[in-house]
Amino acid sequence: KLSTRLERVAKHIPKGARVADIGSDHAYLPCYCILNDIASYCVAGEVVEGPYRSALNQVKQAGLENQISVRKGNGLEVISENEVNCITIAGMGGPLIASILEEGKNKLDGVDKLILQPNIGSYSLRKWLLDNGWELAEEEIIEEDGKIYEILVSVKGTPMKPYQHLESELLMGPFLMKENNEVFRKKWEAEMKQWKIILMQLEQAGENEKAKLRKAELSGRIELVQGV
Ligand code: SAM
Repeated sequence: KLSTRLERVAKHIPKGARVADIGSDHAYLPCYCILNDIASYCVAGEVVEGPYRSALNQVKQAGLENQISVRKGNGLEVISENEVNCITIAGMGGPLIASILEEGKNKLDGVDKLILQPNIGSYSLRKWLLDNGWELAEEEIIEEDGKIYEILVSVKGTPMKPYQHLESELLMGPFLMKENNEVFRKKWEAEMKQWKIILMQLEQAGENEKAKLRKAELSGRIELVQGV
């Protein structure tokens, strides 16, 4: 059975889409999408040999070799231009997802939807989307097995559209802030607790330039989160 996290990612894939799942590991998501008649064709990309082998095995076992192409390579280099119209990247940090998109920019022309699931650091991912002509269209926050995940769905459009208070919304997500649900509050309460502990440690460590900068950054963030 697919994790709730990946099931939620799959929910955003348009019916009949041609999908590249980058960092696919076991290719669970592409298999699910084909078996459930969501995607018409998938590429499962993996950069590491072990997970690449797992993906190959999984696809073979499911008998889906004709609909899922498993490829080894870094980020978007595994797809050719206009091969897919939807990209999913899940289960990595936001900065890594942003760097995969940045390095693969030339492959994004024919793509109209990005479904991204950063485990941490979604600020840098929202920032990348905003700076590169992608409009944030939907966001979700979910909790599974005690972990909290965000899903960002982006389309080509008007990048500034969802934003009114840029810094806080890049950090916490404009849609998630508005919805302000229980999981969202839990996430930011936990983050604040962490930041306050780090702040206390920095206070004890004494004054140096680096500590001062870090303290200012953390205090700024705490203020943003407390403002919600
Ligand atoms: N997407 C699956 C999920 O959400 O359950 C797997 C997540 S797993 C934690 C991250 C996978 O991304 C690993 O298998 C890793 O090898 C792969 N990965 C990391 N950087 C990558 C890159 N630049 N290109 C392709 N795959 C990458």
